[in-house]
Amino acid sequence: MNVSDSELVESILIREGYNAIDSPDRADLLFINTCSIREHAEDKVHSLLGRYNIMKKNNPSMIIGVLGCMAQSLKHDILENKPYVDIVLGPDSYRRLPELLNRHKVNNKSLVDTQLSRFEIYDDLFPSRKEGVNAWITIMRGCDKFCTFCIVPFTRGRERSRSINGIVNEVKNAVNNGFSEVTLLGQNVNSYKYKDENFATLLENVAKVSGLKRLRYTSPHPQDISLELLDVMSKYDNICNSIHLPLQSGSDRILKRMNRTYTRKHFIDLAINIRKKLPNAGISTDIIVGFPGETEENFLNTLRVMDEVKFDSAFTFKYSPRKGTKALEYEDQVSEAVKQKRLEELILLQKSHTELRNQSFIGKIEKVLIEKESKRNSSKWAGRTDSNKWVIFDKQNAKIKDIVPVLITQSKDITLHGKIMNKAKAA
Ligand code: SAH
Ligand code: SF4
Repeated sequence: MNVSDSELVESILIREGYNAIDSPDRADLLFINTCSIREHAEDKVHSLLGRYNIMKKNNPSMIIGVLGCMAQSLKHDILENKPYVDIVLGPDSYRRLPELLNRHKVNNKSLVDTQLSRFEIYDDLFPSRKEGVNAWITIMRGCDKFCTFCIVPFTRGRERSRSINGIVNEVKNAVNNGFSEVTLLGQNVNSYKYKDENFATLLENVAKVSGLKRLRYTSPHPQDISLELLDVMSKYDNICNSIHLPLQSGSDRILKRMNRTYTRKHFIDLAINIRKKLPNAGISTDIIVGFPGETEENFLNTLRVMDEVKFDSAFTFKYSPRKGTKALEYEDQVSEAVKQKRLEELILLQKSHTELRNQSFIGKIEKVLIEKESKRNSSKWAGRTDSNKWVIFDKQNAKIKDIVPVLITQSKDITLHGKIMNKAKAA
């Protein structure tokens, strides 16, 4: 989401006559687009700001700005303790950037706008995209779910969606500019609602855009995955066979305390349904360990759900207390040592599941979209299957953005290896 928001800000600045450059020390403007989701993300911003302060000493006319989710919480700290920061803008205020830059030129004072909007969706602004394979397209902003651990509803405000027309036009534009894949983005992408249209309708409209080779979306909430959505996914070849399904916890007691609005049974049934409707679908997840009050037995329930579903991959996190959220008020916080131990156990289990799922691909021919050169070997390509698995293989005559049939020959760690089949054999 922040990559996508940065592309939006870049397009606003390009209109004002600025250009992107590679080395921050020579910049006239330097913006950090920030994330508040966990303490670690915020720590990274503080240390970057320290470095930029030093750069500014050598280049005093440099304007430093803080954008995005941390704007709100940093505003007082910045005004009081970080006089080298010139502009602070929340995620709904990017349109004001040109005006604030002009005001800053006149009065040289720090300027702040962290107001959240019920309406701002930037529907009419085309982001400035680098050349590449995948284009991110934001379809909705904000979140109304208020999970008790999460800062997003406070930093990004209320849910609002773009028009289907606006989104389809942006997808067409991305395809015309040479992008093979589009990923629809939202904090809760499948809560999308524009007038009477829902996410399944939007997805179908986007899938029909001619020339669009692949369509992905992230991040959905399990509660809003409907059978209608799964039907649309199975109907269109270009909608990728993969779903990110954040579990968070496998314990009903913890799910309730998290305000996740589904039970462990609902989640497992959903995963079974997904694999029934979309055979071989890749299912990835997010899991938090050490949520306040999580007992050993609650944690074991999470491991049990993992054992039942066998996720293809997982993003795993230690619970990070966030100011202003309800979970911070719970008195039974879990110690750092216990969180760390649980995290390590969970990572180990997930690794074994990823390997198991990957091994089931050996001997299959998968359609792989070539995205880049392999980091470890310049004679090989790296690309993704439509179930979202990375595959490494000899380049032969194929090029970036080709979709090629690849016979999977080996699974090493979390990556697959294979070889391109010539078309006649693959058919
Ligand atoms: N809207 C998506 C998730 C967006 S945030 C959903 O509801 O599933 C991405 C992930 O960050 C979450 O799924 C969660 O696992 C993690 N996360 C959010 N807040 C966190 C916190 N306070 N501590 C640790 N992990 C957190
Ligand atoms: Fe945060 Fe996702 Fe819950 Fe919204 S649904 S509050 S973004 S975890």
